[in-house]
Amino acid sequence: MTYSYDQNNIFAKILRGEIPSKPILESEHSVAFMDIAPQKQTHILVIPRGPYRCFDHFTEEASAAEQVDFYQTVAKVAKAHGLSEAKGGEGFRIISNSGKNAHQEVPHYHMHILGGEPIGPLVQ
Ligand code: 5GP
Repeated sequence: MTYSYDQNNIFAKILRGEIPSKPILESEHSVAFMDIAPQKQTHILVIPRGPYRCFDHFTEEASAAEQVDFYQTVAKVAKAHGLSEAKGGEGFRIISNSGKNAHQEVPHYHMHILGGEPIGPLVQ
């Protein structure tokens, strides 16, 4: 499949510095920042720097280095924010909405990291 990518989506603008964000962590291929409308006490987004629309696009076309960097950034953020049980935290949930049925609102691939309090059932 050929994937389109909207260069004017909100996360593309954040990557270009055109709109502000509250940065958490930056790596070679990924950026983490606070969600503007947190759903839980901790709600962080991790995005790749590359122009990937959704999970399928990212896993099909991003390099191995980009993919490893992305998931390692998610892991680093969870540890740095005391969410990981490995670091004495009480756990967290990672969610990635991909496409229409998942209600993906921003068409730039991203992972939500939710924690700091009980998250509740997987699907409500
Ligand atoms: P999705 O539904 O695409 O999985 O989630 C998009 C997320 O992006 C939502 O949780 C929403 O609050 C967040 N979001 C939307 N616009 C902005 C923005 O301008 N800045 C930040 N930091 N987050 C945003």
